[in-house]
Amino acid sequence: MLSQRCQNRSQASQILLFADGIVHLSTGDMLRAAVAAGTDVGKEAKDFMDAGKLVPDEVIIGIVKDRLEESDCVKSGWLLDGFPRTPAQAEALVDAGVSADCFIFLAVPDDILVERVVGRRTDPETGKIYHLTFSPPEDEEVLARLDQRSDDTEEKVKVRLEEFRANVDAVKGVYTDISVEVDGTKEPEEVSVTIIEAIDSMLV
Ligand code: AMP
Repeated sequence: MLSQRCQNRSQASQILLFADGIVHLSTGDMLRAAVAAGTDVGKEAKDFMDAGKLVPDEVIIGIVKDRLEESDCVKSGWLLDGFPRTPAQAEALVDAGVSADCFIFLAVPDDILVERVVGRRTDPETGKIYHLTFSPPEDEEVLARLDQRSDDTEEKVKVRLEEFRANVDAVKGVYTDISVEVDGTKEPEEVSVTIIEAIDSMLV
């Protein structure tokens, strides 16, 4: 599933998994966990992530390939969230014999994306994602402890959008026969229903 990153992508993924029991692999989450754990991959990735730039292909491709070989992915299937983001990543999947059933592109205009990203906050205790305007926390106590991702600033979002634009057409080109474009401006539940319908139609 590919989009310019927005809360909808993560939320839609969660709802889809609830429906299907498949493994959700967000490369952004995997990299953030590596940074937090101080692994070699995390050390290599950190500066790129903080700058809003893509992590080098050779760093991310290995992690994803290894993860897809683990038994839960093999047994239950997977949803890659935010991967592939470059033509080299797409080619690496092909070379590894990994094929997807459906490629979902969540389309969201830049101005809405920036608004979503800049207002996004995470509760470090529960992992729940909020938006200060669209999905504010329940009370002051939660509000006071919310974290903002270092790359969720207007300045970094611009860099992330540039990276996205530089690669998106080439990545989409690899998946023309299994691509579905979904309007990511709708409510998460509606987006999820549309995605489930798209996947179902692809699998018949
Ligand atoms: P995300 O959580 O999807 O917004 O990803 C956060 C950051 O992780 C991105 O801005 C990149 O620095 C890095 N990242 C995530 N997925 C990839 C990928 N497939 N290729 C390169 N970098 C990635």
